Amino acid sequence: MVLLSFLNPLSEEAEQIVREKSSLEELFNINKDLIDIISHTNSQNISNDDFIPNNLAELAVKRLEWFARKKNDKKYDHNDYVFLMNPDIAMYDIISFYIAAQAIGIKFNPNSRESRVFIESQGQLVQERLEKLSTSLRKEVVGKLLNQLITMDNISWTSLGTLLGSKKINLTDLIIDQGEVILDKDDFIYRFSDKIVGRVPEKMYDILIGDKIKELIINRMIMQNTENYLLKVHEMASNIEAHPSLIIIADEISKMLNERTSIFSGGGGDTKASKLVGEAFPPCIKNTIDGVSSGNRNDAIVLLLTSFISYARLYPSVFKNETNLKISDLDKGLKITTNEILPLIYEAAGRCTPPLFEDDPQEKLNITAKLGFGVHMVPDLNNEGESKWYTPMSCEKIKIHLPVLCKPDKDCKKISNPLSYYNRRKWIMNQSPDSSPPEEKEKSPKKED
Ligand code: SF4
Repeated sequence: MVLLSFLNPLSEEAEQIVREKSSLEELFNINKDLIDIISHTNSQNISNDDFIPNNLAELAVKRLEWFARKKNDKKYDHNDYVFLMNPDIAMYDIISFYIAAQAIGIKFNPNSRESRVFIESQGQLVQERLEKLSTSLRKEVVGKLLNQLITMDNISWTSLGTLLGSKKINLTDLIIDQGEVILDKDDFIYRFSDKIVGRVPEKMYDILIGDKIKELIINRMIMQNTENYLLKVHEMASNIEAHPSLIIIADEISKMLNERTSIFSGGGGDTKASKLVGEAFPPCIKNTIDGVSSGNRNDAIVLLLTSFISYARLYPSVFKNETNLKISDLDKGLKITTNEILPLIYEAAGRCTPPLFEDDPQEKLNITAKLGFGVHMVPDLNNEGESKWYTPMSCEKIKIHLPVLCKPDKDCKKISNPLSYYNRRKWIMNQSPDSSPPEEKEKSPKKED
């Protein structure tokens, strides 16, 4: 069933297709069959040649372009990319998945923007391709995919450790009994029917588990497997010489993402960075900048202030945009990071009691790591992607871990993250006294780290 590999390109069947049908020498050859399928896909926009990939290399780049535009471009038109949902392109799509994965894995870090966009785009493709299926076919496909991805009868929740650890799945999404994740309807009824009072067990199963949890697990497992594959390619790349075609494709992907980022952030767009406005900082951040005493000092500077200041300065709309960016996407030569962000953090560290770096100089390494540049003394572009650029802590977490810093004022009532407070206060400061401020928009979907 090629349809399964269209959804799970890391299946054995998909690997077989790639072994038999792909050749690195043909990636840039015009592929008439592919063009024909795409041109005849229902509703596909063919008014411009640019909408139709001519070869496998262009198809590999289109997969990521679709996702980048869908997430960021207000002018995004689904009809420009309908072909990505057409199972008739399955064979070419599977090959293009491997082309993109190998190009990205060879050239970029596993934490790079290119890697992250690729992994997220695969998850989104799986979700939208499933949504296109009829109800009965969708059920059948979900069952087969689960069997493909999970070989044991019962999954212990600890076997999902990587997915839980990386927050791809929350423990609260799952129904767990005696350490096992319950997915099967009969199993659910067998275990819980005598404990359910006043409700029909079958209905409870549909509400609590149903297909949605199965699809979530499938989706996240495919994303995790994609991430693992990128890592494997990246590790192998240091020992073998990369095919020049893959390097060209990696550069094309990066160029496309650069263009999309600058298009979306230009002209006062959401990701446009602007100078910090200290008067708009929330009380917890002002208190941190004033200096924190030992006990709370390290977390306040490294976890709270570092992420807040860097996002407030470079990417204040991170929770609204849903797009993961690197610092260098917004601060190419790291001038702002070096000249504005780090001095503010270091000065606040110096105001702590005792001064943070005097007895904990290694915390400079942790600050660099929280900015996404790995464990090094200062941020360096060569190290970017070795760690994650951490997003600001939520108010909930601050109240738990750093309660002494949270002294809410009236504006704290309407927000759930200090960065939302900052955006809101800045907006109010720029308006006339009569204007009403916007409600917090970043409640979901992107969660802080
Ligand atoms: S409510 Fe949130 S923003 Fe306000 S002081 Fe507390 S942690 Fe900071």
